[in-house]
Amino acid sequence: MANPKRRHSKQRKRLRRTHYKLKGVNMSICPQCKSMKLPHRVCPQCGYYKGRQVVEIKVKKKEKKK
Ligand SMILES: [Zn+2]
Repeated sequence: MANPKRRHSKQRKRLRRTHYKLKGVNMSICPQCKSMKLPHRVCPQCGYYKGRQVVEIKVKKKEKKK
């Protein structure tokens, strides 16, 4: 089995890992209200999923701290 002769330095390890980064979240457009939403999830703006309303959206009446 291949065995490393020397331990990689911190710099080498960190240089290799410079390519590891997080990708942005995938977003899809809600067919109901055209806002951005996560795919396969109920739209947080209008509460629609699969062409019908699934969740009721509460309109904020009391707004504190402004
Ligand atoms: Zn929507």
